[in-house]
Amino acid sequence: MTNPLYDALIAPQIDRTAPLLLTDGAEISGAEFAAMAHRFAHALVVLGLEPGDRMAVQIQKSPAALALYGAALAAGVVFLPLNTAYTPDEVAYFVENSGAVLLVCDPSASESLGPVAAHHGAAMQTLDGSGEGSLALLAAEQPGSFDPVDRGRDDLAAILYTSGTTGRSKGAMLTQANLLDNAQVLVDEWRFTADDTLLHMLPIFHTHGLFVASNVSLLSGGRMIFLPGFSVDRALHWLPQATSMMGVPTFYTRLLDDARFDRALTGHMRLFTSGSAPLLAETHRQFEGRTGHRILERYGMTETNMSTSNPYEGERRAGTVGFPLPGVELKITDPETGAELPQGTAGMIEVRGHNVFKGYWQMPEKTAEELRADGFFITGDIGVIDADGYVSIVGREKDLIISGGYNIYPKEIELALDEQPGVLESAVIGVPHPDFGEGVVAVIVPEAGASVSAQALEAAIAPGLARFKQPKRYEIIPELPRNTMGKVQKNLLREQFKDSFAV
Ligand code: ATP
Ligand code: MG
Repeated sequence: MTNPLYDALIAPQIDRTAPLLLTDGAEISGAEFAAMAHRFAHALVVLGLEPGDRMAVQIQKSPAALALYGAALAAGVVFLPLNTAYTPDEVAYFVENSGAVLLVCDPSASESLGPVAAHHGAAMQTLDGSGEGSLALLAAEQPGSFDPVDRGRDDLAAILYTSGTTGRSKGAMLTQANLLDNAQVLVDEWRFTADDTLLHMLPIFHTHGLFVASNVSLLSGGRMIFLPGFSVDRALHWLPQATSMMGVPTFYTRLLDDARFDRALTGHMRLFTSGSAPLLAETHRQFEGRTGHRILERYGMTETNMSTSNPYEGERRAGTVGFPLPGVELKITDPETGAELPQGTAGMIEVRGHNVFKGYWQMPEKTAEELRADGFFITGDIGVIDADGYVSIVGREKDLIISGGYNIYPKEIELALDEQPGVLESAVIGVPHPDFGEGVVAVIVPEAGASVSAQALEAAIAPGLARFKQPKRYEIIPELPRNTMGKVQKNLLREQFKDSFAV
């Protein structure tokens, strides 16, 4: 019997008496974690789940939630984690779309999600709690060891829905091989070992927290400081015990906002990584100034796990996401024709390799549109490769502005605006314009206490930008809308400012 992911991530924990997970107020050994996963696996079998069945989970992050992932691997059940912020209506879409046979939620959500599960013919269990339908109670009656079911490298391990930044979320089918090979590459590239303690404050319903952070740590044999979420106080408290930390850019900007965050807390650390959204050059610079560490930025997505990374040794170049990882091919193509473009030209990022998903769950047409027959996946991100081979993300194709027949990449304008005094950050969007199709709107967030004026910004950026790229409207707002992974939600901004040029 083999079950590659279980064998690599969960089985090695069985004999481990040392702590695996440190959390606020508890320490869980590898053996305790494995036993928890095994009890849950038995419970899933008792509930009638079979290999290949889908289990949707919308649960707060906890050691038990991670153990449930381990249980799904052991029992061959396809794990389908959902963002804890999703409303019952949104959960209904995922349950229906995935054909989940079981929905696991927190006790507090059982009343609102009960009807959702019932409507779609799925069973429902709460992860913990003492009431009826508690998976924890069922698990408590089960043995702490479990014979994992046989799984092949090409079998589905998880369906992970995309974040829904550009439209309706799609279920990315991820195989055992996708997840295992990518985790192994990251362990090697980022030098994770059993001596590592990873400060883990990311959610585990997303590729970053589950398939990068958790898988990498489990595979390396290290331990995790496994916290329910990010806060500056928590980070400051736990940093002295960590060796490495994975974060999204907002973790780093919030830490930098706190004067207590300094070299005394970070001197012993060996690695900080960032992804899920662009890390500003300014954040890089400030972080290095404050701590002496250069954040390692990498690029990935739900469909591809991690595709590129800045080097562990060698120059970590700000504004870039580094090089394709071993086993990953990356090319830049013309978004219209698909022809490969020369180095230095911006175009569609296409990716092929062990990391690329198997397709979108029950969306054969969408899959065929984005996954070429030769295995290259059309990411929807626009990028460019510099003379030294570093890849930069210019933006998403869907955020491309077409104004008066010109293609405008917002990032170029955002970078120019972000450099201006008093500007904390900016987002440039296209909204309907009666003459140009789309008109360029700059949404500006001023630094605390600073005041910025449209006229001053206009004058400052004009010399460096062709006229057609210059924003025709400036909107000053206190904060950009972001989702839980720190991604700017440009669709909300486009909606908010859609009438900017209305006549
Ligand atoms: P949807 O596909 O549903 O619109 P999404 O693309 O935001 O949502 P994810 O798969 O969570 O869903 O996010 C992947 C995207 O995040 C990438 O395609 C890219 O646009 C962005 N991203 C990830 N890492 C970086 C990075 N280091 N720099 C810039 N963008 C990044
Ligand atoms: Mg996407």
